Amino acid sequence: MAGEFELIGRHFNWPAPQGYLGVGDDCALLPVATGHRLAVTTDLLVEGCHFFPDVDPETLGHKALAVNVSDLGAMGARPIGCVLGLSLPRADDAWLAAFARGFRALADAVNCPLVGGDTTRSPSGVIISVTAMGEVPVGSALKRSAARPGDDLWVTGVLGGAHVALELLQGRHPQYDDRLDALQPCLERPIPPVAFGAALAGHAHAAIDISDGLLQDLGHILKASACGADIDFGLLPVHPALEGLPPELVQSAVLNGGDVYQLCFTAAPDMRETITDLAGQYGVSASRVGRIRAGTGIHVGNSLLPLGADSYAGFDHFG
Ligand code: ADP
Ligand code: MG
Repeated sequence: MAGEFELIGRHFNWPAPQGYLGVGDDCALLPVATGHRLAVTTDLLVEGCHFFPDVDPETLGHKALAVNVSDLGAMGARPIGCVLGLSLPRADDAWLAAFARGFRALADAVNCPLVGGDTTRSPSGVIISVTAMGEVPVGSALKRSAARPGDDLWVTGVLGGAHVALELLQGRHPQYDDRLDALQPCLERPIPPVAFGAALAGHAHAAIDISDGLLQDLGHILKASACGADIDFGLLPVHPALEGLPPELVQSAVLNGGDVYQLCFTAAPDMRETITDLAGQYGVSASRVGRIRAGTGIHVGNSLLPLGADSYAGFDHFG
């Protein structure tokens, strides 16, 4: 790509932290503490599939990293760095500057420095691939298979905001457009509780980030752990800007709404105080919303409306 090296130099050549070798060599070099495992996660974002061509590039930069560091937090891993693959139809300097600004603001906020990447020309549309790396003490990762009957079920943050924001942007509920200002940041600027997730390692059992909807993502934990769960709908943390919306919209947003990038995790009941303390320390709200039990399936008690079998469906690319 014409000007490739210049573009990388201008927008992505960030100073590497002490002890790192960052952008500019054949490989980046990252420090990994002894007694830890390297945690690696990657996500692809494709124009027309994951974002609209006219999306604000700064927002896109933020989200491209957010979806990855969210997975690190959900594994109990502390971020150590990330790499960025970019395939671009053209070298648009203003677009790249805004993308890099959004990416970097979050990278700085969650301590996940950009250490390398690759840049190519795309025959059609923008494609973004981010790989994030972290470290987690050996034996402490928050694996999906680690939930146990009797565990408490916890959720961080508030639910439903991104789902309703997307529906408003799609023009589905024009009578509620006054909520968009409050809800749009949930969709476009999710801040995953990464440091809190890392702090849960060794204290919590299983965790997952809520990207495809609470029921679907919890379903992954239950399947991997061969357990069931009971949720008390009334304990679920609902985004305050959903107050007064029709119950069917609130319920589907909270239970099935994706793009949340908060954590759903399980922990033994004797960890309640520890978890509440950690949440306070990291400025995260953590709500205890139910329990893990023997058996299968998710029972949602006190829901607003009867739940059909299809209530459990979240987002599935090939579904
Ligand atoms: P190579 O030929 O070894 O693949 P490149 O010319 O592709 O090297 O990249 C040169 C340097 O710039 C490398 O350190 C690479 O990690 C970095 N780099 C390339 N593209 C990006 C990008 N989009 N973001 C961050 N670093 C990048
Ligand atoms: Mg290359």
